[in-house]
Amino acid sequence: MAYPYTHPSEVRVLSKYFGDPGARTLKGWEARGGYRPLRKALGMGRGDVVNEVKASGLRGRGGAGFPTGVKWSFMPQASERPHYLLCNADESEPGTFKDRELIRWTPHALIEGCLIGAYAIRAQHAYIYIRGEFFEPTQILAKAIEEAYAAGYIGKNIMGSGVDIDLTLHLGAGAYICGEETGLMNSLEGRRGEPRLKPPFPAVSGVFGKPSTINNVETLIAAALIVENGADWYRQWGTEKSTGTKLFCVSGHVERPGNFEVPMGFNFKEFIYDVCGGIPHGRKLKAVIPGGSSVPILTADEIDIGMDYEAMAAAGTMLGCGSVIVMDDTTDIVKQVRRMVDFYAHESCGQCTPCREGTAWAAKILRRVENGWGTEADLDTLLDISENMSGKTICVLSDAAAAPIVSSIQKFRTDYLALIRRGESLAAAR
Ligand code: SF4
Repeated sequence: MAYPYTHPSEVRVLSKYFGDPGARTLKGWEARGGYRPLRKALGMGRGDVVNEVKASGLRGRGGAGFPTGVKWSFMPQASERPHYLLCNADESEPGTFKDRELIRWTPHALIEGCLIGAYAIRAQHAYIYIRGEFFEPTQILAKAIEEAYAAGYIGKNIMGSGVDIDLTLHLGAGAYICGEETGLMNSLEGRRGEPRLKPPFPAVSGVFGKPSTINNVETLIAAALIVENGADWYRQWGTEKSTGTKLFCVSGHVERPGNFEVPMGFNFKEFIYDVCGGIPHGRKLKAVIPGGSSVPILTADEIDIGMDYEAMAAAGTMLGCGSVIVMDDTTDIVKQVRRMVDFYAHESCGQCTPCREGTAWAAKILRRVENGWGTEADLDTLLDISENMSGKTICVLSDAAAAPIVSSIQKFRTDYLALIRRGESLAAAR
């Protein structure tokens, strides 16, 4: 089914029911084979569910790419303490809009993924932490949870299995940092959404001080499909280390922006020029951010690579959460980077000096350069600030803000210099 467009190269596994409103209701979901994976999981040993997901090679789709089965296996096996599964549906990375679509079209797929994940890690309670601004997805998901409770898929003695799992939908108030796992936990507990120092890691002391695992929406939906179809089925797509399919959300200067699902390792150039239809109005590609605003920028000459974790790392960037931001040759790179850094300065929680001061300072310098008042020495200062913002803070927001500054100065220095020179000539002419 076209949603709103499907390219022949796509492999729609997670997004199979995008554009199909019938899949939203419980009856419609059951008619499409829904809750079969949950029934199968409940008939398996918890360790077997973990091992199947481990064998599939599924990696977290929220950005970090950590192996999901391995993450699940960190949870204590014999502890009597309550365990929690948290689903991160905050989706706060600029340029990302895949999880809200998964929720809008297939809310029961997420519920099923949460229940299977909770069962695997011995959690009696799962929480879906969703961004408060996601009004429509929240309404759809809340209705689906109500239906699933009424049908006995959530709650006590799920499907007569003797397993009890509750599921709570929690609305965030809209802060980028609540998409960071420990910031999310603080927010869920009713505290300020500030990231926590690690260790202790969530599997030891997570939400409410209890063992917790946090997974992204896309990850949990993929895990349910893996339990249903097996690890080998999932491994038919992708590369050896980046398995399966992935949803990529594309925005910016392409003919067809939107969500596309392709196998991991798909050629990035082909993706932009063929799947997304290329650059509109006969313009040329200037730059691409491949994984959300917090990853290093690629130039037009650097995109003949695979869309997988390893190939992106070898090219000096990251796959992140798969948010592709495309910029044509009319783009003012300095302005775009300044806007990103403004965003991170606004969203910094302020606990760490390099992040609190560095983001604001860098934004101020970038604005100066953008407006023609900068000097070449400002570029050295920006690189110095970025160096001091990287790897020195509680969470990676600071690194995220530094990445586009550094990569843009390295790859688009001439853009910065053009603004500086123009400012100098205007000053000389006054
Ligand atoms: Fe807060 Fe920034 Fe430190 Fe993260 S890096 S904890 S956002 S101050």
